[in-house]
Formats: sequence, C-alpha cells, structure tokens
Amino acid sequence: MRPLDPLALSASVLAQEVNAGSLKAQDVAAAYARRVENLHRELNTHIEWDKDAVLNEVDKQLAYIEAARYAQKNLPLAGVPIAIKDNIMVDSQRVSCGSQLLRNHRAAYDATVVQKLKAAGALIFGRTNMDEFAMGSSCENSSYGPTVNPWNRRHVAGGSSGGSAAAVAARLAPLALGSDTGGSVRQPASFCGVVGLKPTYGRVSRYGLVAYGSSLDQIGTFATSVEDTALLYEVIAGHDPSDSTSARLPAPQGTLGSAWTLKGKRLAMIKEFMAEGLDEDVRTHFEQAMQVYREAGATVETVSLPHLAHSIPVYYIIATAEASSNLARFDGIRYGVRTQKPGVSLRELYVQSRSEGFGREVKQRIMLGTYVLSSGYYDAYYAKANRIREMIRREIQGVFEQGFDLIAAPTAPTTAFELGQKTQDSLAMYLSDIYTLAANLAGIPALSQPIGLCRKGLPIGMQLMAPAFGEETLLRSAQVYEQQINGTEKFRPRI
Ligand code: GLN
Repeated sequence: MRPLDPLALSASVLAQEVNAGSLKAQDVAAAYARRVENLHRELNTHIEWDKDAVLNEVDKQLAYIEAARYAQKNLPLAGVPIAIKDNIMVDSQRVSCGSQLLRNHRAAYDATVVQKLKAAGALIFGRTNMDEFAMGSSCENSSYGPTVNPWNRRHVAGGSSGGSAAAVAARLAPLALGSDTGGSVRQPASFCGVVGLKPTYGRVSRYGLVAYGSSLDQIGTFATSVEDTALLYEVIAGHDPSDSTSARLPAPQGTLGSAWTLKGKRLAMIKEFMAEGLDEDVRTHFEQAMQVYREAGATVETVSLPHLAHSIPVYYIIATAEASSNLARFDGIRYGVRTQKPGVSLRELYVQSRSEGFGREVKQRIMLGTYVLSSGYYDAYYAKANRIREMIRREIQGVFEQGFDLIAAPTAPTTAFELGQKTQDSLAMYLSDIYTLAANLAGIPALSQPIGLCRKGLPIGMQLMAPAFGEETLLRSAQVYEQQINGTEKFRPRI
C-alpha cells in the first residue's frame, strides 16, 4: 500500500487517519511545513512564517494526540494543521493584526477558539496575513504587503482574511480561521474558491479576537468542502462565559449527520442585488447555481429588500464608530510600539506613537468613527445608522417569517480584482462588500461556496444566509449543492 499523502486528504479524513494511527501527526506537520516553505513567499499568505516556532508548538500537541490515541479517544481534529488569522490570539505568539503598531506584541493567552482547537487535537499552523486591523476588502491594507490570489498572482486574494483564504486554496493548510465584520471571511473565500462560513453573531466566542466592530465581529472558517467546514464549526462554536455576547447554546453536534433534503425548501433571491454593478459572469454562474438548487428540489423566488441599499453607509458608520473606540487602547503605553522620539510629553507620546504605528486606512476610519460619535453629529450619523440597521434586520427577518428557509445572493459583485485597482479609491473598495454586509448588520449566519470560474479563470462564490442559529440549514443545503456539482475538486488552483 502506498503511504498516504497528507496534502491530498480532507481535514475530516486526515483526523480519521491520525486517530486510527495510519498517519502520524508529525508526518502531516512535516508535509504541510514543506508546502508552506515552498509557497508562502510567493503568495505572502503568512506574517513572519517561523517554521521552527510552529513545529515547536506542534511538538507539544503530539504527545497529547498520542495519549488520546492510546486511550482510544477520538479527537475531531487530530493532527489537522490550521492557519490562524493574525488577529486571533495564540498564547505567547505574536499577534500583529497586520499592523506595524503591534509588530512586537505577544498574546498573553489563547483565544477561546484556539483553546478549543488545541483540545480537539489540531496543529496551530502559522499566522495569516490580513488587512490592518481587518479594515479592507483586498488584503492590500496589510503593512506586511498584500496576499496575492493563488489562481492569478496579479489579482487580490480578497480581504480582510486574504491570507487565510489563499492559504486554504493553495493547500498550505486544510483549514483556517478568519474574522468577518462585514464580509472578511466570505469575500476572500469567494475570490479564492473555498468555502467560508460566518456563523451567527454570538455563536462562536470572540474572546481573544482583537476587536474591530464589536457588534458585527464574528470568527469564521475556511475549508475546501462543506464537510470540513462543519467539522471546524462544531469544534469552535458554543457558549463561552468569557464573552458576554456569546449565545447560551450548547456546541453543535452531528450537523451533517442524518438524511436531509432540499425538497420543499424555499430560497429567496434579492432583487436589488441582481442589478447594476453585478458582473455578467457572476450573474450567469449565480443563475446556474440557482438552477442546481431548483433541480435538487428547492423553489427559488425573488424578493425585494429595499433597505439593503443603505447597507454600505450604515455599516461604515457603525463599524468605524466601534473601531474608533476599540482602537483607542493602542496608545504606545500598554500595547504596541512606542515612539522613539525624545523629549515628548504624554499627550505627544500618544499622538506620535499612533501616527507612526497605524496605516492610512486605519487612520481614516478612526477619524470617521470619531466624527460620527462626536456630540454634534451623534444623532445625525451614529444614532440614525443604528435605526436603519434595525430596519435592515427586520426586513431580513420578514423574509424568513414569510416562510423562506434561505436567502441566496452572489458573495461579491465581481471576481478577484487586480492588485492596485481599488487602492486609490476607498469608495470603490467599500462597494465590493455590498452583498456581504447585511448578514453582519442582521447578525445572521452566512456561507460562501464556490460555484464556478469566470472567463479569466478566477473563482466565483455564492452566498446563503439563514435565520439566526440556522447554521445547520446553511451547511446542509450547501452540501447538497456540492454533491450535485460532483464536489469541489475543480476549485483547486494548479500550484
Ligand atoms: N471590508 C469590510 C471593511 O473594511 C469588512 C472587513 C471585515 O469583515 N473585517 O470593514
């Protein structure tokens, strides 16, 4: 029998083989470390990839995995490498958030998701690149340079979790974690041809995730199939007393277990999304995907959600307001680099450290956020945005109350754009989030899955949204689609 190639196996099969003893976790780690060594520079997927540090950490896990095996205890992610977005804390490792300001900062504890991953036998496998403080849609706002798209290196990987998406697409890890405040898991997943899940707000603990927009942030998953997505989701979800916004629900189990069908399920397509600005290739493939859902037994109808047109201004007011408050702690005293400028007063030290440490987009957003919260403008901007947010939430809620099971939409209006194409135009960049923001504003779960390639050979993604805590419906529906199109093998770039 030929030895198993860890790089060719899904996360689910990897874990099974490691649990069964037919594959050694150290061989899995070695194979993935070689692959990362070969590719991470070209793709710029990682921030300071440090092979020895990663393998040192892995060594600590090996004894734990071995002990579980002797005790005949199955670990759901035994020996499975997982890349972690660089805004999620791994005890004593650096966590930079893609920023110069935090370039030397080390995490003092494990995020709850990381604790859970370790307990599930996973191998923490490198810190992935991201837009600075998760502000961006292309990974070009990283102060460590952009991650490039594994399908075509002249194109962006998407953002802000571009490093995680590209790493999974290029098979530098079978799984990765990201965070999604306005689409940062789903949009890069769509650009790189992988499955990205943003769970319901509160379903996954945010303890140990560096906060951006606290009422919108959610940790999400990257994988190459729905099965692997469900596996990772089940490990990380569940109540956590350390996060006061965490939902009091038990961890999900057997999400894809029993038989399930799309027959009789009702999908709503959003009329306003199928309009101007939607790329023709994306539209064609999305309509074909809807046809596949129909053939599997679902009905698809079009609904009108006029308030969603306000998603962009509402999101960019709320997210920047929250960010301006969350980022106030980075003042050069407790966190982050301190200016070396001599003879400065305390006030100058704050200003100077922040001026040196933050990048342009982050500064722009802090100013915008501070402005919309300032006393003269609070009602006109922040309070109003919150009222419209509530209208958007109700409008979406109304769709589910009418008996629809899911809302379907393209994940992004285009495929991955070229590097540099939108860096000079903030509004053009913000517009690429137009379809993903609603799920964060409403707090509902959403999943992006690959549905085809455009004429340029770049992946196209579609998005499903379900009512709060309806992850199971999302995952099961997406899995039926995946089976209908004979799997996701075709969405692997040839590298
Ligand atoms: N692109 C959006 C922004 O820049 C969303 C980012 C995210 O989800 N973290 O805010």
